[in-house]
This record gives sequence, structure tokens and C-alpha cells, in this order.
Amino acid sequence: MKNRYGLANKNWHSMTSDEVIGCLETNDLKGITEKEAQNRIEEFGKNLLPEGKKESPFIKFLKQFNDVLIFVLLGCAVIAAALRHFVDTGVIIGVVVINGVIGFLQENKAERALEGIKNMLSLRAHVMRDGKRIEIDSADLVVGDIVILNPGDKIPADMRLIKTVNLKVEESALTGESTAVEKSVDVIDENSVLGDRTNMVFSGTAVSAGTGLGVVIATGKDTEIGKINKMLCDVKKITTPLIRQTSKFGKTISVSIVIIAIVVYFFGAFFRDYGTSELLLSVIGLAVAAIPEGLPAILSIILAIGVENMAKRKAIIRNLPSVETLGSVSAICSDKTGTLTKNEMTVKAVVTSDGYYEVSGSGYSPKGEITENNKEINIGNDITLKDTLLCFKSCNDSHLGKDNKGEWIINGDPTEGALLTLAEKSNEKLENLSREATIPFDSEYKYMATLVKDNGKNIVYIKGAPDRLFDIAEKEASKNGEKGFNREYWEKQMKKFASTGKRVIGAAYKKVSKDVTSIDHDDLNGEIIFLGLAGIIDPPREEAIEAIEKCSEAGITVKMITGDHVDTAKAIGKQMGIKNADMALEGKEIEAMTDNELKEAAVKYNIFGRTSPKHKLRLVEAIQSHGQICAMTGDGVNDAPALKRADVGIAMGIKGTEVTKDASEVVLVDDNFRTIVNAVEEGRRVYDNLKKTILFILPTNGAQAFLIIASILFGTLIPLTPVQVLWLNMVISITVSMALAFEKMEKGAMKRPPRNSKAPLLDRYFVWRIVFVSILIGGVTLLINVNLINRGYELMQVRTVTLHIIVISQMFHLFNSRNIRNFAFNKDFFSNKAAFIVSGVLILLQLLITYVPFMNKIFGTVPIKPYQWILPVLIGIGIFIIVEIEKFIMRRIDKLIEKF
Ligand code: ADP
Ligand code: MG
Repeated sequence: MKNRYGLANKNWHSMTSDEVIGCLETNDLKGITEKEAQNRIEEFGKNLLPEGKKESPFIKFLKQFNDVLIFVLLGCAVIAAALRHFVDTGVIIGVVVINGVIGFLQENKAERALEGIKNMLSLRAHVMRDGKRIEIDSADLVVGDIVILNPGDKIPADMRLIKTVNLKVEESALTGESTAVEKSVDVIDENSVLGDRTNMVFSGTAVSAGTGLGVVIATGKDTEIGKINKMLCDVKKITTPLIRQTSKFGKTISVSIVIIAIVVYFFGAFFRDYGTSELLLSVIGLAVAAIPEGLPAILSIILAIGVENMAKRKAIIRNLPSVETLGSVSAICSDKTGTLTKNEMTVKAVVTSDGYYEVSGSGYSPKGEITENNKEINIGNDITLKDTLLCFKSCNDSHLGKDNKGEWIINGDPTEGALLTLAEKSNEKLENLSREATIPFDSEYKYMATLVKDNGKNIVYIKGAPDRLFDIAEKEASKNGEKGFNREYWEKQMKKFASTGKRVIGAAYKKVSKDVTSIDHDDLNGEIIFLGLAGIIDPPREEAIEAIEKCSEAGITVKMITGDHVDTAKAIGKQMGIKNADMALEGKEIEAMTDNELKEAAVKYNIFGRTSPKHKLRLVEAIQSHGQICAMTGDGVNDAPALKRADVGIAMGIKGTEVTKDASEVVLVDDNFRTIVNAVEEGRRVYDNLKKTILFILPTNGAQAFLIIASILFGTLIPLTPVQVLWLNMVISITVSMALAFEKMEKGAMKRPPRNSKAPLLDRYFVWRIVFVSILIGGVTLLINVNLINRGYELMQVRTVTLHIIVISQMFHLFNSRNIRNFAFNKDFFSNKAAFIVSGVLILLQLLITYVPFMNKIFGTVPIKPYQWILPVLIGIGIFIIVEIEKFIMRRIDKLIEKF
């Protein structure tokens, strides 16, 4: 390996962090420069793992032929050759090859769709460059980069730690050990094994708690995971329960068909006087006709298109079967902050024991005034307010700045951004206190604390959920000095804010002695002095309100889960149109409940306040115990178990951590509730189209099988030759069958309750429709066939017309199938252009087979007179009308059944 640091030979874990930093010519505070990063990328390459071995296209192509159906077809080809029907053999082989090519192309398309999605999920890393903290694509990481680690981050490269705060890392990807390892920066013995190098973190593992700082010592293939060359993200197979079900179904059909064919053959041989070879060929034709060869490939395409559409609508599907599951979701549990609301926080009011202050201005712009009774406050004269703001400012990790359009933006948590903006609105600039130690915000504890130095004194500032601070506060600050904590007063103030939907944050402080240099949760007791409350508004997303309404029409319950106070949650829930929003369940009530009690409460309540991530898991289980299909959103590391458990786990793309994304089925690019509902809608459309396609294609096979079996049984002439049957199946599966993939959503699709996920794919009505249409098309064709022959038409001519009858009938039947239960003609009749285009192509192909001499020769067809087209078209129209009448009658019957 060429490099200037001798990376491969270094024992980074037995060097001090300063030695490591020196050796890699970096700086623990500023990182490397952008320019140096560029140089190092050129020297070491990008931080990418070598791609896992991909199957070669040729192998992929060959795999298309590894299928029972293909073996049956090839068997047929051999028999045809033995009978010296070489044209038949050639055509069968031709079709097998064409089928392989189509399958290959479809698989490629579907894989490309997934590949694109994988790229949308690329890993990001926070690094220091040129002294600034920036976010980069982790592929651009280089040796020497200083990386900031937070809970839920995936470790993007191998690193030597230079700072840790309670850092715990889950390394099962590398060591197989699933309990998190505690990390530190201490030097470790040279000979220790990988699992014991606690001052190192390795690419592919994940931060489960705490924070840290590391310096990159190896990237890409030089990392430990790169060395064992394990593919982390393998391409998932394009399959779902439905597709597996149908392809199993297809196999069953294939086997049954072969058995039926053999029985029919013997029946024909003993009871009817066909020539052996003629009979054998018809039976082959039967086998070929009855097998729905194209179906699985077409279903995969529909699914891939669905996944692409969802990605366009900002929902990334990480796991294909969820496309189907999404369509059957009956309950969506959503975070409030940022998903239902805009996450654009603004402090509107502050209250201390001295007064009530209003705050003007909007967004994160520091323009605005803090007023009391419409008079601007002079912060120098109001020490309590000043201390409150100082607490909000010191106990804060966000940064205020302008974007390139000159708009004020924050970097960091919006709640903290709002508090920082508030502090900036005071008429005097507040000082920056130097920070010694931090307890970061955690939705389990719901507060944050910092230890700062103020004029030689050590102070711990705490900000967080008011009720948590009320529990530990002993005194409160006022202009007349400290006095006893008046909990009743503060509870009232908090209620006042919360009942108008404001998020409430409290501020408190504690003086500590000078020799204290670190803080822990256990230190937050004793002389805690309460300062004040801030009320923050976070307006609902308009589009989420609409989406909630859509859900209620679609029979989907929306549940709001938040760490905010129940009153805040109820008020926002009401504004958003969530049902039963005037009652809410609190996290600690959930904790006190048994599973049985929670089972009941989980459906009764739609608002859950003051919850922590661990409650989510129990809620999901409780909701599922009612047989509901539950979607759950999440962003933090601790949400991962609940997302895994949910039927559809939904991670936030923007504020979500990598670990959460890994545990999820769907990632929302825009963190927006509406996107979830869009995905559900798309899921319903995809499922409908899958069903429609099956409903459409199976009668093609059914009709032909019916036609051939009936002709053999009745001893009439064999209506179609095997090559004609193959032609039929092929033109139908490459043209009209594709159309339904592009079918728009049915009008009522989001007005009906979610589908029962346990209901079988082929329900009674489905089976009936398939049999009905098969017999209808097959029967009519048979009648015409017999009739024409009796009238003395030539065999080739009859067969040509028969071909057209089936093809054109199916073309019309496509338009029946575009709507499973309802009338085919409606406003959206012309909305699916694909349906018309493929019909055109189909007619063109039929013209080719009829009028091109070379095609005539191969397929045994003859040119027919123009008027002879009239019959097939009339029959097509007739079948269309009959199926519509059938739908009408069945709708009526359904209504009658409903009445009684
Ligand atoms: P949500 O589900 O709305 O995201 P959180 O768990 O983030 O809820 O927040 C719960 C409560 O914790 C809030 O109502 C607020 O009082 C407090 N809180 C939120 N963010 C912070 C923060 N960065 N620092 C301190 N307290 C916070
Ligand atoms: Mg939050």
C-alpha cells in the first residue's frame, strides 16, 4: 500500500491520541483543510467499500431459464422435433429465448430502480474541516478527518477516539457481539484483539449512546470491515409475499396442466380418432396455453414502478414487501414534532416569578422585542429574566446563521434554535459562558444540562420539560432574591401555555463548587433554583391536516405520539383534526398498565403525551394485538426496536439517525406526515394493479385451455397449433398485460377501509370472474370455430380468425379489468395512455402475423379479407359488454347481501 503514514503497520490503539493526531498531520480542534482532504482523496481513494461480487449479465440471463415452465416448454420442443415438426420446435425455442430476454430486461430495470434508491440513502458524516463543523458524504472522508459522533450514527470509517462522553458502540456487524461496548480514549496494550480495542471504533458499527470525537485512521477497503470484504448492503430480491404467492400458484398450475394434458392425451387417443402427432401437438399446445408464463415478471415490474413512484413522492422503500403492507395499513402512529408540525419553533412568551413577557418576531431571525405590557424590557434591570435567557443560551448546542439567500437559519435542534433566537432578542448582548461539561438532551430524561464558568463561579444550567424540573426544584428566583418553590403557580403557568398548543420548556440552575468539572444525572438535585418558562409555538403542517382527513376517509386511524406535555399534544391534535383529541394518555400511565389494560387503551386513545421511546414498542404491540396493521414513525436510536416491531417502520430522512433508518422499511425524504399517506395511497394503487393484472391475464390462459380441452373432448378439430398458442401468450404478455402497471389509482381507493391483510389474494369473486371470463371467451371462440368449419371454411383461415377472436377479446377485456368492480367507463377512461398504446401495438402485431408472408409460413396463418375482421371485433365488444353486465349484477347482489 502506498502512503506516507505507514498506516497498515501502526498500532493506533497503543499510541496516545496526541501521537495519533501528530502522526496523521491533523488538528483535533480544526480538522484538516479542505485542500488537504482533496489531496488525501487522490492519494487513498474514496471511502467506499469494494462492491460485492455481482452476477455477470450472462449468468443472470441463463438463470431466466431455470424454471419448471421453461423445462416443460423445452420438453415440448423436443417432442415436436421428434415428430419432425421443426418449425414448431424453432418457434418454441424462439419463444423461450424471447421470454428469457424479456425477463432479463425486466429484472435489470427493477434492479436499477432499487439501486437508485440505495444511492438516495448514502451515509453522511459530521466532520471538522478548516475549523468548521460540516456535514459531508461519508465517501469523502479521508485519513486524518476529525469526525463528530452522536447517538444513532453509523461509524463511517475506522477511527481512533480522541474524546468520549459515555460513548457506547454496538459492534455486532464486526464482532457478532450485540451488547454495546463502552468506549474511552485510554491507551491500550499493543497485543489486544479487535474486540478489546475500546479506544477505537470501526466502520459499519453504530453509536448506541453517548457522544464522541474520533480521528479517521483508515477508509474504504483498508478498514477492518473492508478487509473481511463483507457486503453490508446486499441488493434485495425483487419479491413480496404476493409475488411469491403467485409464482407458487404458477408452479402449481404448471404441474396440474401437465397432468391434465396427459389425461386429455389418453382420452383423445382412446375415445377420439386423432392422429398421434396431431393429438400430441394439441396437448403440447394445451400445456403451453395454460401456463401463465409472463405473470411473475409483470408483477415484479408493477412493484418496481410502484417503488420508483414512491421515491418520486419522497418515500424511499427499503424493503419491497412493504409496498404491499403499506396498502393495508390501518393505523399510523406518528411523531408530532416535525412530522405533523413544521418544526419551525418560535418562542412567543416567557414567564418568570416576576412577570409575563411577550416576544415578537418570527422564525429564527433575531429581530423582535421582549415586552411586558407592551413596553420593551431592559434586560439589565430584570435579573430573573436575564438569568432565564442566559440558561437558555448556555444550555444550547444550536447555532444561528444566515443561508446564502440571507435568510436566518439554525444549525441544530429547532427547539434550541428557538431559545437561542429568544436570547438574541434581548436588548443587550448576553455573554458567552465557557462550557465545562454537558448532559445532552435525551428524550428519555427530557432535559439538558451544562456546567459553565461564570466570573469564576461554577454553575449548572438545566433546561427541559417543566414537570421534570418541578420535581427537582427547591427554590425559585425572583427580583427579591430566592424564595420557596411555588409549584402550584408554575403548574398553572405551564397549563396556560400547553392548552394553547405551545411546547413548554423550563429553565433552572444550581451553583456548584469550583472543583466540580463534570456532571451526571445524579448531580441534578439539592439546591436547584427554578428560573422560568418559555412557550414555543410550532405550527401544524397544513398538508398534514389534509392528510389526516384523507386517512379518516380511508379508514386509517392516526395516532400522535410525542414527548410533549399531554395538554400541548391535545391542543395540537385538535387543531389537526385527530379524532378523540380531547383525551390523552401519558407515558407514566402507559408504564403503570398491564399489557391487557394497554391493549384496550391503545385503541381508545389517539394522543399520547410525555412518552419516551420505550413506550412506543409497547404501543405498537398493543395495537397489533387487535389485528391492526400498524405503521410507526421514529427518529432516535431508541426508536429502532419499535420501528422493527411495527408492520411498517418509518424513519425520518432528515432528522432521523442512521440506526433508525436501518431498522425501518420506509424512509421519508422530507420527514412529512403527508408523505406517509402518499405512500399508503401508492401502496393501495400498486396492490390494486397487481390484482387487476392477475385478473386480466389468467383468463387468457383459461380461455385457451378451455378451448383446447373442449375441442379434444368433443372431438372437433384442434382450433390452434402450439406455435399459435405461443404467439398468443407472447403478444398478450408483452403488450396489453403491461398496461395495468400504469393504471392510475381508482377514485374510491382512498375512500374504502384498508384491505384485510389476511384475506387471500384470490378471493371467491376473483376465482369466479376468472372462470367466468375464461369460459366466456373460450366458449364463444369454440362455437364460432365449430360453426366456421361446418360451413366449409378452410382450416388455416379458421385458425387465423380464431387467433384474432381471442386477441381482440382480451384487448377489450383489458378495459373491463382496469376497474375490478365498477363500471369501466368513467372520467378516467382516457387517463391511462399506456392502455391505448399497447392496444395499438397489439393490432399491429396481429396485422403482421396475418399479412406478412414469412409470418404466415411460420405461424400457419393466412391473409384474411377485411370483412372477416368484423366478427372478432364484434365478439370483443360483446364480451366487454357482458362482463360489464356481470359486474353490475354482482354489485347489485352485494348490495342485497349487505341489506340482509
Ligand atoms: P417530541 O416527541 O415532541 O420530539 P421530545 O421528547 O423531543 O418530544 O421533547 C419532550 C419535551 O422535552 C419537550 O416538551 C420539551 O419540554 C423538552 N425538550 C425538547 N427538546 C429539548 C432540548 N433540546 N433541551 C431541553 N429540553 C427539551
Ligand atoms: Mg424531539
